[in-house]
Amino acid sequence: MHAPREEPRARLAARVKRVALTVLLLLAALASAQEKHNFLAVNGALVDDAGPYYFIAQGDNRNAFAKAAPLAKAMDLSLHYDPDGKRLRFSDGSADAVFEATGDIQHGLVKRDGVLSVGGRALASPMAILVDGTAYVPISPLVDAFDGRSEWNAERHIITVDTADRLGYALAPPRIGLTDGVSRVALDLPAGAEYQLAVSGDAFIVTLPGARAAASDQTVDDPNLRGVALRALDGEVNLVVRTRYGLDGEGHGYDVGVLDKGDGRTLYVDFATSLKGDPVAALLSNDPAAPQALSAAPARPQVVVIDAGHGGKDPGTTSSYAVEDQVVLSVALKLKKRLEAQGVRVVLTRDHDTFLTLQQRSGFATPERNLFVSIHANSAPARDASGIETWVFGKPLDPSLVDRAIRENGGGAEGQALTEAARRTADDIAGDILRETQMNFSMSLADSVQQSLVRATGARDRGVRQNLFYVIRTARIPAILVEVGFVSNPEEGRMLATDHYQDTLAQALAGGILDFLHGGGMLAQR
Ligand SMILES: [Zn+2]
Repeated sequence: MHAPREEPRARLAARVKRVALTVLLLLAALASAQEKHNFLAVNGALVDDAGPYYFIAQGDNRNAFAKAAPLAKAMDLSLHYDPDGKRLRFSDGSADAVFEATGDIQHGLVKRDGVLSVGGRALASPMAILVDGTAYVPISPLVDAFDGRSEWNAERHIITVDTADRLGYALAPPRIGLTDGVSRVALDLPAGAEYQLAVSGDAFIVTLPGARAAASDQTVDDPNLRGVALRALDGEVNLVVRTRYGLDGEGHGYDVGVLDKGDGRTLYVDFATSLKGDPVAALLSNDPAAPQALSAAPARPQVVVIDAGHGGKDPGTTSSYAVEDQVVLSVALKLKKRLEAQGVRVVLTRDHDTFLTLQQRSGFATPERNLFVSIHANSAPARDASGIETWVFGKPLDPSLVDRAIRENGGGAEGQALTEAARRTADDIAGDILRETQMNFSMSLADSVQQSLVRATGARDRGVRQNLFYVIRTARIPAILVEVGFVSNPEEGRMLATDHYQDTLAQALAGGILDFLHGGGMLAQR
């Protein structure tokens, strides 16, 4: 028997429906398979429990969904669900964005086209999706509705969301000119705009907090300059001028000036090997008449993030002498007191026995803070292993050390996945001059802290090394991970459990951190 040449319409419709259902199930499976590998950050902080979850093409923001409640919270929006009208309403207090929502679906995300109404305007948008009582919302239409910006970073597998109040002022492209062999790069800044200056190798870097600009990278035909690039980061823009000669922090080869204009000012940097300007460190005062390095009394209070490792359901490494999460929390609390006594502001990732993910911890390392210190304790099968070591982020020179990273990254399959993510970050950083400069600062902080700890305790000096520790991977500020001793060593383990030794450690940590903050750590130049 042959099938009839034409199927009845009803049967055809049923087949189309079946195929469509299969496709949807596949997409749902894909979405759930991908969710573990993608990240969402709002205003620079990872939103751990919100997705993103994708349909079809990765990187198409209109097809990326996040859980509505955590995303609204991160964007500082109120959220209201109207079950009768099947509407999801977000509000910032003055403006509303109302999504059509699907009925509750038992499982799997099912994308449907719908309407988003913003201030009375109706815009085409995927519908919000209700799955088993949880609402999911398309990310980019929501962000657009509140004048924010969302971007997909394919290399890092992350959607970044910046809300309008964070985006800051629009920076005009730099102007570049050549007069009498001197090359000038000029930036027009609004009144009150801050900037920081740094040199690294052949690059002169102007950091502009609160600015936004499209990323650009131009090579220039110029006797002194090779290229001028704008990098857009979370809440700031970096202007990177690559010269044809080496720069140093002493002012050789450049000269910085400021011209006042009616409604703002022009910051310019002249470049020529014959020039000798004021020294440039990591930071200059906004008052051009009084250049002031960070080593002189800083105007803003320094902010240090202290991360006591582990906690809650994760005790870290344990022995009959000491338990890691208790030791490091105690040291962190003591360190906080000591730093605050010196006028340093301290932010703790945890101040009691609670569990935080590594993403939540690293989310504390935001650019407006000065540095990030994660405190851990060690263990080893060999009971005589002892001593203190400080780690910066990077690929370990000795591959066997990766096992250590996996353990501190949570161990097991999760630890391996996070270590793999950290390895990708390390690959991304290679060749990125800003990140490499950042690495130098981290190294300088690590040296300072390690020396101070070894001096104060007399413990074995296991040195400063680099490894793929996830918690310090994305920091835009100097970030280190300190292993303050071995709980597995009978002598050191017992000491780690004592109030007295914890106090010694806290005092030495504070000393190393303050040396770095005041003694020119931020001024580290190559
Ligand atoms: Zn640990």
